Order: sequence, then structure tokens, then C-alpha cells
Amino acid sequence: MTTIAFIGLGNMGGPMACNLVKAGYHVNAFDLSDAALKVVADAGARKCESATAAIEGATIVVSMLPAGQHVESLYLGNEGLLQKLKAQTLVIDSSTIAPETSRKVAEAARSSDIRFLDAPVSGGVAGATAGTLTFICGGALSDYNEAHPILKAMGKNIFHAGANGAGQVAKICNNMLLSILMCGTSEALALGEKNGLDPKVLSEVMKQSSGGNWVLNGYNPWPGVMENAPASKGYQGGFLVNLMSKDLGLALDNAVTNKAPIPLGSLARNLFQIHGQQGNGTLDFSSIQNFYRDNEKG
Ligand code: NAD
Repeated sequence: MTTIAFIGLGNMGGPMACNLVKAGYHVNAFDLSDAALKVVADAGARKCESATAAIEGATIVVSMLPAGQHVESLYLGNEGLLQKLKAQTLVIDSSTIAPETSRKVAEAARSSDIRFLDAPVSGGVAGATAGTLTFICGGALSDYNEAHPILKAMGKNIFHAGANGAGQVAKICNNMLLSILMCGTSEALALGEKNGLDPKVLSEVMKQSSGGNWVLNGYNPWPGVMENAPASKGYQGGFLVNLMSKDLGLALDNAVTNKAPIPLGSLARNLFQIHGQQGNGTLDFSSIQNFYRDNEKG
């Protein structure tokens, strides 16, 4: 069976690596955090002392790191993994990072005869745990086809968006749209409630009308409207405000580089940034609902 080196075993990477073990892959695991490493080792992965130790005998590497600088420092430079991997190893980076950074690492990989796919995910910690993530890949079609069964062990919907970097671009576009939908839905609910409407009734009306959207269908931001949504659990769990701010920052940088107008994305970025700075960074992003409600009290 294929041996996979898995590097970065945090909230997302931990359960993803566990799903690879469950699917029968040999997983060589490494994380800077001992606690994170222990969880995955207890599930049956081999605990490794370093990233270099983890790639021994591996033909595939999966990384799930916080941001671009972590990905660059893992792969690039004299001590980077690209200098140490066997020729033709397939690297799958699932971190959400700037498309430019991803292309830079892919280019360096090509010069070292290493294959590289960007494969950011959508679906959050719940999707990582349930093995139902959406993977959005950028890279050569042949590499995508080879990665497909491995990604399928961790996800449900697997897409090939185009060449290197395309996965990151698609992910950034999706999250920008999601943030706008969340702000718009929160705004409409707050206005309705200010007029004495029951947010549950208004949600149902909008869901069945032209304002219907993904947020209303499964992620309602008003507490109590949807039993299992983070809003009904004190905005705990789900997708953090800080992570949404990070992704919107990537969208903004990308829009500046490409001279693309993103007025709504920029506004959403400011809203989430301010909301995070007001002490809500570790709440679910649907807590942006409170931004509208708190402002109403003033
Ligand atoms: P996390 O902070 O929980 O985990 C990152 C892990 O990487 C940590 O355990 C950290 O110790 C480890 N790490 C950092 N540098 C390392 C290195 N050089 N070598 C080994 N390990 C290292 O983050 P997360 O929530 O798992 O997110 C990971 C990526 O997935 C991010 O890019 C994030 O934007 C993206 N993402 C997250 C979610 C989510 O809901 N959490 C959803 C979709 C995408």
C-alpha cells in the first residue's frame, strides 16, 4: 500500500490524516505540536520526529499548514523538502494560500522533478472529520488523476480547476462569495427583526423566494432558527472569523494584483476584520450577525 507523508495535523489535517489511515494507507505523520501528532499516531499513523523523517519511503506528500509562509518554509530553500524528495514524488498541498505562492512552490518543484498539486478544501472541520470535504485542485491533469483516490478517502467532491494555482483561485472566489452571502443574509434578518418579524418566519420566506441561498439553507446566522447551526451553539465550532478574514485578505491581494474590482468582497473583508478585532476572532463566521445586532443597540 502507498505510503503518504502527512505534514500539518491541526484542526483539519488531523482528521484528514486519520481518514487516510482508515482507508488503509500507511501514513507517516509529522506536526510541530506533540499533542496534534499524538492524536493521529493513536489512530494508527507512524509518528515521525521531523518532516524529513516523514518523507522516508513516501511517494506522496500531503501538507495542511496555516498559511503561505509555512508552506514556503516547508518546501523551499536549502533545507526544504523539495531538495530531499525522490524524483517524481507527488506533493499535494491542501493549505489555503495565495495562488502566487502556490505557483512559486509548484515551479520550484518542477525544477526538482517533483510533481505538485494545490488542493485547498471546503467543508470545515466537520467535513474533514466525516471525510466529506470538497477538494479544488490545480495542476497537471495526470497528477490530479493519480491524486483522486487519495483525495476521495478524505472527501466527497473532487474538482480539477485548471493549472497550478487554479485550485487556490477557485477557493478564494468561493469563500469571498460565501462571506458576502453571510453578510447579506445577516443584514436582511436584522432589518426584518427590527420591524418585528420573527427571524424564523423571515428565513423561511426568503429561503423559498428569490433571496434563497446556501446560508439560509443550512447555516442560518440567527440563534435558534436552525438547531444544528453554530448560531444556535453560541457560535462555537464551524469556520472561524479569523480564517474568513485570512481568506478575504488573500482575495483582496489577488484582486489588487489582477486589477479586479471587488467592492463587495472588500466590504466583507472590512466587516470580518473589524468583527474579529472586537474579540470575535475565534467565533464561527456566522457571528457577523451580532455585528448588525450590536450596532442596532447604539
Ligand atoms: P491549524 O492551525 O489547526 O493547523 C495547522 C497545523 O500545522 C498546526 O497543528 C501546526 O502545529 C502545524 N504546523 C505549522 N507549521 C508546521 C511545520 N513547519 N511542520 C509541521 N507542522 C506545522 O489550522 P487548520 O484549521 O487545520 O487549517 C489548515 C489550513 O486549512 C489553513 O490554510 C486553513 O486556511 C485551511 N482551512 C481551514 C478550515 C477550517 O475550518 N479550519 C477550512 C478550510 C480550509
